[in-house]
Amino acid sequence: MNNSIKKNIQQVKSRIGQACRRVGRDPNEIQIILATKTVDTQCILKAAELGYSIIGENRVQEARRKIKEMGKKANELNWHYIGHMQSNKVNKVIRFATMVQSIDRMKIVRKMNRRLKKVDKTMDVLIQVNTSGEDSKYGIHPNDAINFVRQAAKFDRLNIMGLMTIGLFSDDWARVREGFIQLRQLRETISDQNIPDVQMQHLSMGMTNDFELAIEEGATMIRIGRAIFGERNTPDSYYWPGIDTAAYSSD
Ligand SMILES: *Cc1c(COP(=O)(O)O)cnc(C)c1O
Repeated sequence: MNNSIKKNIQQVKSRIGQACRRVGRDPNEIQIILATKTVDTQCILKAAELGYSIIGENRVQEARRKIKEMGKKANELNWHYIGHMQSNKVNKVIRFATMVQSIDRMKIVRKMNRRLKKVDKTMDVLIQVNTSGEDSKYGIHPNDAINFVRQAAKFDRLNIMGLMTIGLFSDDWARVREGFIQLRQLRETISDQNIPDVQMQHLSMGMTNDFELAIEEGATMIRIGRAIFGERNTPDSYYWPGIDTAAYSSD
């Protein structure tokens, strides 16, 4: 696995380049977040050596274990939390994360803000929106997103930097794209409202199977796991209970 990481990253880079060319975007606008659930620290550090230092983790325990294993090297990396936020994990997430991409409940906002104040920190966050049209417990409903951003913006320790979504798990690409279009349009709508203390520079969308579509629709962060590190042995339902990933073709 270790040896193929470099080649895989080159392939991802080339696919990013092609997607950018199709829509006239600059590839430098797009950050790769390494989605590293189940990936061992050796492999993560290998990718980091190649210049990819934003690590997206789904589980607090797993992230803390890896950070401990890495020792000082962990400090040179940026740790983004991309998993489902549980309120009893807020304190721990704040300790290691530099960005939380998966804010979708006011309960979490309140708790995070309180905790951040206590430790005198601020946190960059993205608001997670459910654009898949499927019933899932992750992400706020698009209709509620503007209101949610307005409410969350009042909490001074959180810097709202944009929106995040997990695309529909489907190979019906037109429908997958619809979700990404929806997130882009939401960003525009929210930007137009000029809500104090809200920035909308980031759209975190696109994973191994759909990142080219996401780039075509304006993604600034893509979260890539399998295309770089290979297939996972642990089923994704372990990390995302309740999301129907069965329809998702893994090539
Ligand atoms: C696993 C995961 C990814 C990456 O998925 P791949 O299909 O491996 O690229 C992206 N975002 C989140 C939130 C994830 O949990």
